[in-house]
Amino acid sequence: MAQEKKIEKIVGIKGMNDILPEQSALWELFENTVQSVLKSYGFQQMRTPIVEATPLFARGLGEVTDIVEKEMYSFEDSMNGDKLTLRPENTAGIVRSAIEHNLTYEGPKRVWYNGPMFRHEKPQRGRYRQFHQVGAEALGFSGPDIDAELIVMCQRLWDDLGLQNIRLELNSIGDAEERKAHRAELIAYFEQHQALLDEEAKRRLYTNPLRILDTKNPALQEIATNAPKLLDFLGEESRAHFEGLQKILRHNSIPFTINPRLVRGMDYYNRTVFEWVTDELGSQGTVCGGGRYDSLFSIFGGKPTPACGFAMGVERLLELMKANGDGNVASLCDVYLVHQGEDARMQSFVLGERLRDAGLDVVLHCASATGVGSFKSQMKKADASGAAFAVIIGEDEAKAETVSVKSLRSEDFENNQVSVPFSAAVDFLVDQIVSGGEEEGQCNNPNHIHIHH
Ligand code: ATP
Ligand code: MG
Repeated sequence: MAQEKKIEKIVGIKGMNDILPEQSALWELFENTVQSVLKSYGFQQMRTPIVEATPLFARGLGEVTDIVEKEMYSFEDSMNGDKLTLRPENTAGIVRSAIEHNLTYEGPKRVWYNGPMFRHEKPQRGRYRQFHQVGAEALGFSGPDIDAELIVMCQRLWDDLGLQNIRLELNSIGDAEERKAHRAELIAYFEQHQALLDEEAKRRLYTNPLRILDTKNPALQEIATNAPKLLDFLGEESRAHFEGLQKILRHNSIPFTINPRLVRGMDYYNRTVFEWVTDELGSQGTVCGGGRYDSLFSIFGGKPTPACGFAMGVERLLELMKANGDGNVASLCDVYLVHQGEDARMQSFVLGERLRDAGLDVVLHCASATGVGSFKSQMKKADASGAAFAVIIGEDEAKAETVSVKSLRSEDFENNQVSVPFSAAVDFLVDQIVSGGEEEGQCNNPNHIHIHH
């Protein structure tokens, strides 16, 4: 016998996850809910490439940010030497595209996106190197009404997803002039406490002192809390904007807390910034962050255009949904077709197509490496599929042109199994599944309730 050669397995990239078949029902539930909520506010979907020119992010996000300093997957296109980056976020890409295609030419636009983002971070729960964000960008709107709408829309999404323990933190980081005045005092304040600062804070003291405020270092919490607050530097317009936002939120019964230390990671923000936070996910508790970015269009060489948006972390929200009991996987199909023998197999194919024509989801048992299997093993698969019914066609049924319908879910179904003429099988099953075999229009198919609470 020939010596078996050990072949090395190729594995996936660290921090980049496969979304497996048993997880996809939850992803689809999330994505369908997102899509319908965003549509109900008049947002249109955009899909931009996952690769952009590196300067887009360096210029847009700011050189002294976590992302640009240490998290970007940047590389040179070996074909032509272009400097490229896998997008770490999608606001820069959306604004780039909006300028390129003059999207706001006819007036403001509401857009949204959903897709993978890439950051070279230390992988841990809720923090991956490829992760997914759903984001919304309101382009050309000056607020505060649109700022409030974005927040109200998030609240509706949490409600529709059945998520309860997510709270809103809010701040205003003012405009450039206001930040400049605050920055001078902030640097002076931190200089007084120089000895207590950590390496990162020292490094940022003269480049991006605002970011010291959102330090995660416990030793710096007290200094950060007592630091001069940007809110005290707001001019009349910024203050009116912030108060206008709060008024709409109160009117819509959206609770919030003002967090003067909330600054957000990217340089492009001004005035309104917000985060949705939960305590149920450990230290990766921010599920959504956003704010206003009135200067980003100009930074990219476009016509000055006010804008506001948010991005949510899909993996973190799915984790929350699972904690809520939404992880139970939906069934694969309404009907599972079990068969034995050549004629039965042919009839199963025909019946499967007819049932699909009638709108049902059907799985036909197909042979594996060990063959088509016994009735018993096929029935096990039928059960595991979550189908409401198994339809069995054996050699006897094939000859008699009948099928046996077995209920896999309800107990009071005439001995759990009935014989039905082949020609009547579609009507019988549709009737059972759509109306539960009883009253018209009342659906009691467990498959149509895709998530079991
Ligand atoms: P953090 O402070 O947790 O690093 P961030 O400020 O870098 O977050 P944003 O750039 O605002 O995050 O992205 C918006 C949302 O995307 C976050 O609130 C989070 O839910 C999610 N997110 C960010 N980075 C990751 C990641 N590496 N893995 C999974 N989700 C992420
Ligand atoms: Mg980060």
